[in-house]
Amino acid sequence: MTATTDTNGQGGGLYGIYNATESLPALAACARGFLSENYDFIVIGGGTAGLAVAARLTEDPEVVVGVLEVGKSRLDDPLVDSPAAFVQMLGNPEYDHCFKSVPQQRGIEHHLSRGKALGGSSAINYMMYVRGSDADYDDWATLVGDSGTINSPQILELSGIGDPEILKQAGVECKVELPGVGRNLQDHAVTVLGLELKPGNITSDIMGDPDTMEAATRAYVEHQRGPLTSVSGTQGFLPYKAVVSPDNLEKTVKSIREKQSASDTTPFYKQQLNQVIAHLESDKSANLQYILIPAGADYTAEGLRTQKVWPPPDNTRNHRMVLGPALQYPVSRGSCHIKSADPSVHPIIDPAYLKHPADVAVLAAGLHFMHKTTKTKHLAPLIQSRTYPAASRDLDKAADREEAVKDWVMGEYHLIGTCAMGEVVDSRLRVKDVQGLRVVDASVFPNHVSGNICSSVYTVAEKAADLIKEDWGIAIDAPDIAKVKL
Ligand SMILES: Cc1cc2nc3c(=O)[nH]c(=O)nc-3n(C[C@H](O)[C@H](O)[C@H](O)COP(=O)(O)OP(=O)(O)OC[C@H]3O[C@@H](n4cnc5c(N)ncnc54)[C@H](O)[C@@H]3O)c2cc1C
Repeated sequence: MTATTDTNGQGGGLYGIYNATESLPALAACARGFLSENYDFIVIGGGTAGLAVAARLTEDPEVVVGVLEVGKSRLDDPLVDSPAAFVQMLGNPEYDHCFKSVPQQRGIEHHLSRGKALGGSSAINYMMYVRGSDADYDDWATLVGDSGTINSPQILELSGIGDPEILKQAGVECKVELPGVGRNLQDHAVTVLGLELKPGNITSDIMGDPDTMEAATRAYVEHQRGPLTSVSGTQGFLPYKAVVSPDNLEKTVKSIREKQSASDTTPFYKQQLNQVIAHLESDKSANLQYILIPAGADYTAEGLRTQKVWPPPDNTRNHRMVLGPALQYPVSRGSCHIKSADPSVHPIIDPAYLKHPADVAVLAAGLHFMHKTTKTKHLAPLIQSRTYPAASRDLDKAADREEAVKDWVMGEYHLIGTCAMGEVVDSRLRVKDVQGLRVVDASVFPNHVSGNICSSVYTVAEKAADLIKEDWGIAIDAPDIAKVKL
């Protein structure tokens, strides 16, 4: 059995665990009800990884798992269930934790969306399904809080597990010294090239036509078909090596080697940088992702501050399109640490977008490639004008490209690394020097994988469930994930 409760005290006064829906074994609407049960395992965070682990453990009917989730159950919520409606949840505190970063490039404080609901970030995501390259998982070298990359280090630090200096400043007594907690934060960084198309070329802006929207809504409600069933877009990958000159490749690698030899670079980070260099020098690494989104975007700092990046479709004008290159293996490392012993105070989050010059160089090379595609015989005839970067940025010049990516860079919502395997948890995902506690979510990825990461989060959760079952003598009925080819 899995019992699930929200931890925000909005349980509606119900005491005791009850079967709320047929699809969930049991829901407790308040803390008292939840605490009236005995559990074999408690999962903190009913998100992507947390629910997968809970579901696997309860394949044995004798095992009782309690899941604590701070967001609400949003089963049957049309915003969650309609793939194309996901943008309406970004920045909405009913669905999004609405974290803020410290100032990034151009002094902008980014809005960092994280799902707040049963299902976690998978309840508000784009649903792009991408798996990482084989090499990404080999780089980890084969490996239960599940609260995500921001909240898992927060919970550890609030519990006195972390860097003694950080804990002292926040007024928390240090119980276990584990300086890696909250370090090593990484995200994929994306920039944009915005286009206005010539009349007659149709993109998602067509949905701004009331008749089209009505027909699409009818198709979705009555037959679960049509454009509202998906987030439109397409993507592919290219190695950095394929889009830069050998000289520029050498220059980029040299700047990383300098970081490696700096006195404050830890052995863990040095090793990760070897992997980044190997990707940059590879003929087939997926280190640049290219995304095409057939819609308009808000290219202002305000869009980044609020996550209102996607304006409503507009059929009264020429239709729009966005090309977005995204950096997959960042050199930059950020952090996420508590500033107070009060759990309701958000941590200080620094995703360190483009902090290291190698990241600027790689992303600028991706932008250059996209700029060149707009000049090809296939695309050029469709384009009316480039709407972003501004015409004053000459994308044929390296210096302008580098400034352009700093003007507008956003996270791809793929935050990882703050409870990294090797530093904070061991290869069985157990928190070092602490008994009976594991972390299973995107925070345990030691370094990044290519592409959107939800599939990798599920992989970690499946593996973790098997490890827990092994350790506790619970039969593993599910397919052995270690034998599944990724
Ligand atoms: C807007 C957006 C779009 C994305 N698009 C894609 C995509 O298209 N494809 C893709 O592959 N990936 C995508 N991702 C990334 C992917 O969804 C996430 O990386 C993944 O879901 C993270 O899983 P997780 O288990 O680490 O954390 P989460 O799924 O975020 O789960 C953490 C859970 O813990 C809960 N929690 C936090 N603190 C507490 C507490 N103190 N007590 C109780 N509960 C707590 C949270 O409310 C949340 O439910 C997207 C992410 C976002 C935010």
